[in-house]
Amino acid sequence: MAYVLGAKSRAELKGVHPDLVRVVERAIGITKQDFGVHDGLRTEAEQRAYVKAGVSQTMNSMHRPQADGFGHAVDLVPFVNGKLRWEWPAIYPIAAAVWHAAREQGVAIRWGGPWMDMRDIPAGTPAAMKAAVEAYGARQRARGRKAFTDGPHFELA
Ligand SMILES: [Zn+2]
Repeated sequence: MAYVLGAKSRAELKGVHPDLVRVVERAIGITKQDFGVHDGLRTEAEQRAYVKAGVSQTMNSMHRPQADGFGHAVDLVPFVNGKLRWEWPAIYPIAAAVWHAAREQGVAIRWGGPWMDMRDIPAGTPAAMKAAVEAYGARQRARGRKAFTDGPHFELA
């Protein structure tokens, strides 16, 4: 079945770069897992609150307006039984849909799961998405660093 974006998701896309909006609109049409756009463009006050709460690492977020005036990031959160759920098994199929949508639309997307350009993920399957996130975690551990994974986060690369 095909999903559609709800009114709330559409409102979140206001002020987001049109290339990224195109990818999100295509992704919702092909995803096997429903999602909502949780965060598009953030105000400075919203971003400050996220940093204070430890949810975001930086005031220099891609969710803030960039030089071109647009936000360059969205958070696509799984919508399961009427609720937004931050759960990896549901996140991988969404990332797979974004992988295909980005390729079709010719837009380079960086995914916050493994913090990499999706063009460097070899296949557009949930398994390939999971493997990329696990490889990122292993790389960070090998360097003695914490892995800051943000599965619902997608930004223009
Ligand atoms: Zn985000």
